[in-house]
Amino acid sequence: MKAAVVKQFKEKLEVEDVPKPKPGPREILVHIQACGVCHTDLHAAHGAWPVKPKLPLIPGHEGVGIVEEVGVGVTHLQAGDRVGVPWLYSACGYCECCLTGRETLCLDQQNAGYSVDGGYAEYCVAAADYVVKILENLNFIEAAPLFCAGVTTYKALKVSEVKPGEWVAIFGVGGLGHLGLQYAKAMGMNFVAIDTSDEKMELAKSLGADLVVNVLKEDAADFIQRKIGGVHGVVCTAVAKKAFDQAYRSIRRGGTCVMVGLPPESMDVPIFDTVLNGTKVVGSIVGTRKDLQETLQFTAEGKVKCIIETRALENINEIYDEMLEGRFNGRIVIDMNK
Ligand code: NAD
Ligand code: ZN
Ligand code: ZN
Repeated sequence: MKAAVVKQFKEKLEVEDVPKPKPGPREILVHIQACGVCHTDLHAAHGAWPVKPKLPLIPGHEGVGIVEEVGVGVTHLQAGDRVGVPWLYSACGYCECCLTGRETLCLDQQNAGYSVDGGYAEYCVAAADYVVKILENLNFIEAAPLFCAGVTTYKALKVSEVKPGEWVAIFGVGGLGHLGLQYAKAMGMNFVAIDTSDEKMELAKSLGADLVVNVLKEDAADFIQRKIGGVHGVVCTAVAKKAFDQAYRSIRRGGTCVMVGLPPESMDVPIFDTVLNGTKVVGSIVGTRKDLQETLQFTAEGKVKCIIETRALENINEIYDEMLEGRFNGRIVIDMNK
């Protein structure tokens, strides 16, 4: 089968023929139809984080497709079902986190396109219990980005505890952020969008942003504090320490700073201000299978529409170059039938 493979960190991916995998017990084989390209895949290809991915690696954790074969012991899925293979490829199912609805924190998890091969391929093996079915009225291309960008921002907004009518700021209007803005709107929040170009400002306004800040022209925290006295919550999806520092300073007293983006740096959290302002700083990692079902439902109801450009698997290296420079709007989705 055809796949895009990372052989060495920081080197170009190679699109080549690799053996078609076989599903083991409680696994399924998915015939991948589309896979979104997440900035995390770029971090993986660069070996940017303290925990490194396997090598060689087939990236991709927004792979969606049709179940072709089910392994021994799989009873709830059958050939022909439409499913997606998310970042949370599998978890142990019995640790404290798994038992308390926090499976994304399981220490024994595998991650698609990181610790195991993912969706940049014609076929992908998946853990049957951790794939999520795609609703009938969503096509594969529009469903793919929901499996990471969608569920991650949907969940992060829940974690922010911002209520309808309150203010949230979303840093980064990229693959994740442009969906986050739409979920915030659908949830009845007022929102500020922050990014680094006028084009992204226009995009954010077209998605209903009440306020926008281009950080190349103005410090976002100063602007937000001056204009509305701070936000109740922030979701920071930007891949820059500077954005996290500004995100923290944008919050009003008692508010929550949700960290989502994953630049390999630290952020400045002043102890005095955090204590006196009762600020909450919290990380949010993707979402559970339940969050994913809700995310898909939201989108199937037409409340959210991902901006998508489709490309062929062979274009993966150009896609990464464009992503590094923030040159496109929304999400690029690899269409395996292109
Ligand atoms: P993306 O490249 O599509 O979007 C990033 C956006 O941030 C771009 O629009 C860019 O212009 C903007 N940006 C860069 N510097 C900025 C700054 N200083 N201020 C404001 N905006 C700035 O990337 P993506 O796919 O949306 O992923 C974003 C980050 O989230 C990545 O680090 C990725 O690894 C991470 N991520 C985390 C989770 C999670 O579960 N926590 C899930 C998916 C992705
Ligand atoms: Zn992702
Ligand atoms: Zn577990």
